[in-house]
Amino acid sequence: MNLHCDLHSHSTVSDGTLTPTELVERAFEKGVKVFALTDHDATEGLKEAALVAKKLGMAFVPGIELSVTWSHQTFHIVGLGINPDDEVLNNGLKTLREFRGRRGEEIAAKLEKKGLVAPLEGAKKFANGEILSRTHFARYLIEQGKAKDIKQVFKRYLVKGKPGYVAGNWASLEDALSWIHGAGGLAVIAHPARYKISATRLRQLITEFKELGGIGFEAISGSHSPEEEDRMARLANQFELYISKGSDFHSPDNVYRELGYLPDVPTGSTPIWHSPMWKAQIGHLE
Ligand code: AMP
Ligand code: MN
Ligand code: MN
Ligand code: MN
Repeated sequence: MNLHCDLHSHSTVSDGTLTPTELVERAFEKGVKVFALTDHDATEGLKEAALVAKKLGMAFVPGIELSVTWSHQTFHIVGLGINPDDEVLNNGLKTLREFRGRRGEEIAAKLEKKGLVAPLEGAKKFANGEILSRTHFARYLIEQGKAKDIKQVFKRYLVKGKPGYVAGNWASLEDALSWIHGAGGLAVIAHPARYKISATRLRQLITEFKELGGIGFEAISGSHSPEEEDRMARLANQFELYISKGSDFHSPDNVYRELGYLPDVPTGSTPIWHSPMWKAQIGHLE
């Protein structure tokens, strides 16, 4: 029933610290059987990861984590089983990256006002590719001695109400789901317990997500407590969503859980890998 799978992770292509190759090798060493790379707004690592997984004999699911603005707030939607070369998806990703670039300049200007020296260059030093993330700013601020760890630096500088915060202007929920579906993937609401949102609004988000064809809910996340996992699994059952699970691994010194160190999907819930859609759209990719 419970495959040992990890369907949410990041490499150096976005804000992780391991290359796609290192990440896949680590997942394999940790005993993961089905693995998805889901970089933020980027597909560049997927071919390399798939090749390494194939060599190791580990099932690999090409994925993505899309940044979405819904009702003036940022949400993350994971796409599983996407075609990395899909043109509409890649055009959409281009617009997200452009926003990342503009936002990076705004964040840097705000941090400069707070006395930081060359924050844009500093953050870019930690970014590998085209994805400039708040995580890269966070690493630079830590290097500059502004905070002791990633949690503290977000809390002090990078979240709403703090000096380096810039509001998101990401994809609409509708666009994100149509890009994922157009690229042959399944859509999953990422780490649902992380959002600062009322129960009513979360239900509203789920309702719209389902109307747009979304089927998955990441009740089991490296960023959830056991209590949150239970609560989110019950919510998924109420809405007849399939449960996904993922560590959201970013780095070996990460704040969340290790690759693959995730509890089983609770009995009474259906994992997304048991859905007919998974069998039809992803089964052959593994
Ligand atoms: P961005 O997409 O550039 O706005 O950055 C979002 C990323 O920042 C998330 O994917 C996390 O990796 C990281 N992040 C956000 N909030 C926190 C937090 N409180 N502690 C640690 N990392 C965080
Ligand atoms: Mn991240
Ligand atoms: Mn996320
Ligand atoms: Mn993530």
